[in-house]
Amino acid sequence: MTDRKKSAKSKAWRPRTQMIRGGLERSGFDETSEAMYLTSGYVYDKAEEAQAAFKEEIDRFVYSRFGNPTVSMFEERMALLEGAEACRGTATGMAAVFSSLMCQLKTGDHVVAARALFGSCQYVITEILPRFGIEITIVDGTDLEQWKEALSKDTRAVFLETPSNPTLEIIDIKAVADLAHNAGAKLIVDNVFATPILQHPLELGADIVIYSATKHIDGQGRCMGGAVLGTAEFCNDTLKPFVRHTGPALSPFNAWVMLKGLETLELRVEAQSRNTLELATYLSGLEGVTKVIYPGLASHPQHELAMKQMGSGSTLVSFELECRDGEDGKEAAFRFQNALELIDISNNLGDTKSLITHPATTTHQRIEPEERARMGIGESLVRLSVGLEDVDDLKEDMAQALKTG
Ligand SMILES: *Cc1c(COP(=O)(O)O)cnc(C)c1O
Repeated sequence: MTDRKKSAKSKAWRPRTQMIRGGLERSGFDETSEAMYLTSGYVYDKAEEAQAAFKEEIDRFVYSRFGNPTVSMFEERMALLEGAEACRGTATGMAAVFSSLMCQLKTGDHVVAARALFGSCQYVITEILPRFGIEITIVDGTDLEQWKEALSKDTRAVFLETPSNPTLEIIDIKAVADLAHNAGAKLIVDNVFATPILQHPLELGADIVIYSATKHIDGQGRCMGGAVLGTAEFCNDTLKPFVRHTGPALSPFNAWVMLKGLETLELRVEAQSRNTLELATYLSGLEGVTKVIYPGLASHPQHELAMKQMGSGSTLVSFELECRDGEDGKEAAFRFQNALELIDISNNLGDTKSLITHPATTTHQRIEPEERARMGIGESLVRLSVGLEDVDDLKEDMAQALKTG
């Protein structure tokens, strides 16, 4: 077998090439596409080989909770794309978030996190970590003074997402990375909304990047998956023992779907981002829409930082709806969503199909109304994940939904 992946040249391929070929390891059958190894275990020629494998004297697959050839192709491709030394695939994005935190934390540690987070990340940080005696400080991620104060004492880990869900706040990754490092902390960035195409947190000083591969990486509504990326030291010495023994392993089938997703990731993210900018501009002038939040618009309070950090506004736009007589915000949002004929009501995102959700009654319903208000999640706010459809059909659907309903 000619193993071109291991040639020195393949490491130097540009990201666009890595997305198609990175990590490809062909079997003896010389197949074109990545092979799907649906196996839970592996066999040994001799008992001595099993013993050597468990002693880690030889490098080979022993059990798919520890590693699997299809999963490892996905991990290698992700690492090459992200410019990370190592990657660990996980069953879901939340498994990536939880493992990246719990593998390194212990009782007495201090964690600082931004307030605007994906609902489950918020739950893990504010509800689960304190149960283990981990001290939590929550800050407004856009306010560097709050980060400075929170990071004035020893801290183990810092967690943020940018753009945030669903208010699309932008956090200055480089500035927070510097503050985190001064406090002795590792910065973990949830890069789901920006995708590996638009934003490169490791280049900006982050230590660990996590993904829900369920979102843009699959991007076609099929499989759950996640990834944690970082240094070889972190992934091998801290993360690997934790995930091997606690079991958030990525299924080989899902890893194969994600490998295929990566091949078209850039094309999809760029086209979806173009659609989103066009829709956000359109929505800004539409009667019945009172506020549009999109980092790609000059009206966004952190537009400049977004352009510097991401180069585009991403594939999500959030907006608030005007209430009609006697209607409250939730009723306005429900009326609008129920009148849509093309765009689906769904809490997923990053899909080729445009999906809309009402955060206050779905992803963020668990949060107290006052805290939601503090997070900027109004009752009439909807979050639209823009897909690959013809943007004129999306515009027409929104216009008719605003008029009728
Ligand atoms: C979806 C999502 C997650 C969790 O990923 P799952 O694959 O659903 O477990 C974490 N963070 C962000 C920002 C997300 O959008």
